Amino acid sequence: MVSWGSKVRKRFIAGAVCPRCGEMDRMVSYTPEGSQAPVRECVACGFSEQLKVEVNVAVPTRVEPVVGGKASEPKGPAAATEQVIKFMPLPGRKKT
Ligand SMILES: [Zn+2]
Repeated sequence: MVSWGSKVRKRFIAGAVCPRCGEMDRMVSYTPEGSQAPVRECVACGFSEQLKVEVNVAVPTRVEPVVGGKASEPKGPAAATEQVIKFMPLPGRKKT
């Protein structure tokens, strides 16, 4: 029998604000062993919540470290989708 638990990596979420105590950069994210749902946890006040995971949604790219020097364009479908959504409410300019 090997005790487990040390395998779980906790990563700080840059810029994340705790919904309970309001502290910034105190939120960590990790996925408990044996679970597919990541957990958000505040190291300042102990707040924690389980994040919803959808099968077809990729992990947000902002969690990954920036590789290379090009950081001007956000890559990934998540960022592209956000931009598309912003344009959605605009009415069409078509005039007939
Ligand atoms: Zn907190």
